[in-house]
Amino acid sequence: MGRVAKGIKCTVTGCEKEAVRSLPTEKVTAAGLKVGESRRAYLCKEHYKEFKKETKKDRMLEKWRHGTARASTKQLER
Ligand SMILES: [Zn+2]
Repeated sequence: MGRVAKGIKCTVTGCEKEAVRSLPTEKVTAAGLKVGESRRAYLCKEHYKEFKKETKKDRMLEKWRHGTARASTKQLER
């Protein structure tokens, strides 16, 4: 994980923007983004944002499923 050298393009299907992050492909596909078959996926700013949003959702669902949401109840109450 981490920053990406300049000039590398986002690997999301149909996206031609410059990548800012590289992540393992399985994580990116698990978040619902369509990327190529290569082991690493490169994401542009927008798609990385989307990826973060999706993984956040998943993590929260995971917590609820396993009944460990108690620790974060305060955060959710607002
Ligand atoms: Zn993109």
